[in-house]
Amino acid sequence: MRDATRIIRSTLSPARPGEPMHHGPVFAAPFHSPGDPGEARYSYGRSHNPTWTALEAAIAEMEGTDEFEAQVLVFASGMAAVAAVFGTVLAPGDVAVLPSNAYFAARKLMEQYFVPMGIELRLAQTANDAQAALLNGAKLLWIETPSNPTMEVCDIAALCEQAHAAGALVAVDNTTATPLGQSPLALGADFSMASDTKLMTGHSDLLAGHVAVRTDAVDASGASLYDKLFQYRTLAGAALGPMEAWLALRSIATLPLRLERSCANAMAIAAFLKTRPEVIEVLYPGLEDDPGYTVAARQMRVFGPVVSFVLADREAAERFLAAADLITEATSFGGVATTAERRARWGGDAVAEGLIRLSAGCEAIEDLLEDLAQALDGLQ
Ligand code: PLP
Repeated sequence: MRDATRIIRSTLSPARPGEPMHHGPVFAAPFHSPGDPGEARYSYGRSHNPTWTALEAAIAEMEGTDEFEAQVLVFASGMAAVAAVFGTVLAPGDVAVLPSNAYFAARKLMEQYFVPMGIELRLAQTANDAQAALLNGAKLLWIETPSNPTMEVCDIAALCEQAHAAGALVAVDNTTATPLGQSPLALGADFSMASDTKLMTGHSDLLAGHVAVRTDAVDASGASLYDKLFQYRTLAGAALGPMEAWLALRSIATLPLRLERSCANAMAIAAFLKTRPEVIEVLYPGLEDDPGYTVAARQMRVFGPVVSFVLADREAAERFLAAADLITEATSFGGVATTAERRARWGGDAVAEGLIRLSAGCEAIEDLLEDLAQALDGLQ
């Protein structure tokens, strides 16, 4: 079955006569659970919830393939999912290898909380698989490809092979691509993580995250990765609200449509920006002359909705954003409406003052290109 069909079918409830076609949110802290709590499927809402179960099953359809099944855990945000992988894998004395250009909050979480507890952190760029040189003695290799916001690409399969040979587990932050755009588990990763706040749910109205593992995946001691993550989530308590879980489930039914449209728009925008003299550099792995293109074309089904590009300086970037009528100035990415921001306004990333991270939405591309053109004309 093709993705669009499979994903839509996976969001339906079981076909029982007289019952709704779609799952509704189940609001519960405790569930009825007399006697031995192990006998009730649900007992307490920090451990499990039927709306999570439906959402996790639907995401598992995207993360698995015909060759293997995946298991998924949903979290209250993408960062809660990142923290669960760090917390599940790492103990004092362990080495973690992160991208120096990884999403800044993931880097900060590691630097400010895990390093002081005795984790050794090694950093290298995403581009050119530079993290491979740091794997000796590592416990966790964390990769993000394409990386946010500079859209660098690394070779997931090659890095997984090298990390596993060095005895490390591999986690991929797959937020930009989503599991429909790129399959980290199929490429050899142990954890596929995403901020579902972004393209996965696509309506800019909720925070969520998930981690997927192969159903039979175990660590070096033979412990199930799923069980360890499950226990971590229950104890750390980063529980997704049932309302958000339900909104997410509704939203992912349209992911195949939104992904196709926003990635096609991103590609057209990247190609258009290349033709403009005001644009110093376009960072998009879908462009054939991008340094990440060869690897991205091999491991991605689409190149994602995010296009970064560099204008002359801060002033040019601010004037461009003010002049663009159809580009909403906002952080985050992956929504149905096109958004953009001057990334250096946050600090924390080593990016040019004039770098704009644009997230292509699902609008008519003609309108977007006309608007980009008039906003760039104003810089001349
Ligand atoms: N990973 C990446 C690549 C992100 O861009 C983000 C958020 O921007 C996160 C993780 C964290 O996700 P959330 O904001 O849902 O906590």
